[in-house]
Amino acid sequence: MDVATPFIEVANAIVEAGGKDLNLCYQCATCTGSCPWGYVEPLNIRQLIHLAQLGLEGYESEDLWKCTTCGTCKTRCPRGVGIIDLVRSIRMMIGETGLIPLTLRSALGSVRGDGNPWNGSRVERNRWAGPLQVPIFDKARTEYLLYGCCMASYDVRSRKIVEAAVRVLRAAGVTFGVMGQGEECCAESVRKIGEESLFERVAGSNIELFKAQGVEKIIVLSPHCYDAFKNDYPALGGKFQVVHIVEKIASLLLLDKLRLERPVKAKVTYHDPCYLGRHNNLFDPPRMILSKIPGLEFEEMYRARELSLCCGGGGGRMWMETKFGQRFSDLRIPEALAVGANVLATSCPYCVNMLQDSRLNLNKEEAIEVKDLTELVAESLV
Ligand code: SF4
Ligand code: SF4
Repeated sequence: MDVATPFIEVANAIVEAGGKDLNLCYQCATCTGSCPWGYVEPLNIRQLIHLAQLGLEGYESEDLWKCTTCGTCKTRCPRGVGIIDLVRSIRMMIGETGLIPLTLRSALGSVRGDGNPWNGSRVERNRWAGPLQVPIFDKARTEYLLYGCCMASYDVRSRKIVEAAVRVLRAAGVTFGVMGQGEECCAESVRKIGEESLFERVAGSNIELFKAQGVEKIIVLSPHCYDAFKNDYPALGGKFQVVHIVEKIASLLLLDKLRLERPVKAKVTYHDPCYLGRHNNLFDPPRMILSKIPGLEFEEMYRARELSLCCGGGGGRMWMETKFGQRFSDLRIPEALAVGANVLATSCPYCVNMLQDSRLNLNKEEAIEVKDLTELVAESLV
């Protein structure tokens, strides 16, 4: 056998698994230099890519799962390397050897068994809809499927976001329903963790269910669900019209179907979620919405839009313990305070949770609140 064969086989397998740009990388290290881990404990992504080019021989570190798939490196790479697809496919290769962090295994097991990563019971899915009298989706009566994300069903803080969304959509006369218990996790993070076959199974189940119920339009609250439905599901046959709640609110305001008349007295800054901003280019709608809320003063942070600092919760990191001193969200709270904000707004349940934790850990409860943009819009309804 040719001595070069084994590493070429691994490199080819990475390319086939989706890391098609493996050999485009010319090792300039711009990615490592732009990675937010550099602010806390460096992650040498350039070196990891180099090891992958050499067949990953002897790679045994869990560092690979530090990547939050924030996309900062990808936007700056001079070769246009699809670094997140590389990370995902390298995780697939390494994962096959059994080297997956323990907490991720638990989250994946929960998705496999119960359709969500939070070890929540299936019967709890969409139970929040009952008290709010949100009906089950019926294509004859409801235009949109409201997909609340696992977070709305299993996380108390996120439930406030879905409650606000229901209020806002009703105020604008939008008709919507939920899918009930049959729906599963969007599986965006499952895919980024490197569990491609589980992703395909879960996504396939959702696609089949949505199609059977005649779903054509979906409103999502999480940029992670948005990214999966919009960018990953079509390749599996799931082609739906997907709108993030921020897009929907912005278009309702433009069409004059939503009136924001109650003043919100707050100085607000906005944290761009990676999966809404860098991944899907939705930078302007949140700012347009904020400009329409009466009484609200807006101030941009130093790191905004394409330069936004990741909260640290993507790529499976929501289910991993990040040591104190290594949390990106702990850096974000002082940045918001530095512009005089007393509200840090964002548009993602993961970001809300991460930033909320940091606000508490840093003892800044009195100084600043963390809110989803949808909550601010709901506050401004008369
Ligand atoms: S920035 Fe792009 S070309 Fe440079 S090392 Fe990273 S992946 Fe390779
Ligand atoms: S996607 Fe984000 S966390 Fe991952 S290597 Fe790139 S910059 Fe770092």
